[in-house]
Amino acid sequence: MIDPHTIAAVMTDLGEPPYRARQVYEALARGLAVDFEGMTSLPASLRRALAERLRPLSLEDMETLVAPRGSARKTLFATLDGHPVEAVLMTYAKRATVCVSTQVGCAVGCAFCASGRLGLRRDLTAEEMVDQVLHFARSLRDAGRRVTNVVFMGMGEPFHNYDETLRACRLLNDESGFNLAARSISVSTVGVVPGIDRLAEEPLQLNLAVSLHAATDELRDRLVPLNRTYRLDEVFAACARYVRRTHRKVLFEYVVLRGVNDTDEQAQMLAARVRPPHYHLNLIAYNETGGDGEFARPRADQLAALHARLEAAGVSCTVRRSPGAEIEAACGQLALREVETDPQP
Ligand code: SF4
Repeated sequence: MIDPHTIAAVMTDLGEPPYRARQVYEALARGLAVDFEGMTSLPASLRRALAERLRPLSLEDMETLVAPRGSARKTLFATLDGHPVEAVLMTYAKRATVCVSTQVGCAVGCAFCASGRLGLRRDLTAEEMVDQVLHFARSLRDAGRRVTNVVFMGMGEPFHNYDETLRACRLLNDESGFNLAARSISVSTVGVVPGIDRLAEEPLQLNLAVSLHAATDELRDRLVPLNRTYRLDEVFAACARYVRRTHRKVLFEYVVLRGVNDTDEQAQMLAARVRPPHYHLNLIAYNETGGDGEFARPRADQLAALHARLEAAGVSCTVRRSPGAEIEAACGQLALREVETDPQP
């Protein structure tokens, strides 16, 4: 993906009229072109000149894992400077959702997360984020389908790379480009309070998701180290401000770790904090990441019991089907394997 401003600047340098820049941008963002060679509406000399100056793809796809029933695909990419990045496509009957990474690794270091074990290598650019989506848009197009939703929920903390994440949202939403409705785009944070406040002021109607994973500060300090900076009360106060400002709901994500955060105490505190009508809770069974075995995936009956307990306490709550368990779809898992096989300095 190339930002339309960059295309326009290069076209001006080449002495081309502005409509040529629009043609190229549309071919990339709508036509999902991967090179200039196929843009046969452009003169051959211009295609050659563009190829010398611009690279349409910012990521190279290295490996794709497909879940047995084909409902999830995970692709490991390499950035042009050699960093591993992964994204997941989850297909349902009517929806096709791409889970996008915003950073190479992550500085937050959640206790159960493979991306956290990588540490932060670097922020991704908006182009690198959009290219993860366009990659899956091409494979869906071959099957007569399209990307219906994008969630910024892969490797990285989006609000630690706020400007580029929002630029990616605007590129995806651009009517003259990829044209995905803002309401179909969700940004997920682990609770970066200034980021929640900034998002509330954005003109785009994006969805906010907050990864909770624990309902008491004591447990959350252990699972999500950023909780020592932004305490649960502060996170919930920011969510309340967000709801007041935007009149939109907040989705809370809760990765269920057997025997750790599915206890009666946690369920009780969760029910007290995540109150309808503006808050909804999504329970996600932990994907075992092949790490040191500290955490375990809950059995189906344990997950169902937690769900029932929360619903009985009045929480608006769903269990997220996780089609990716068979394809190492815990965030950062595939990239971590890549780095552990081929460590970088
Ligand atoms: S769960 Fe999210 S915020 Fe936590 S370490 Fe992993 S990528 Fe970072």
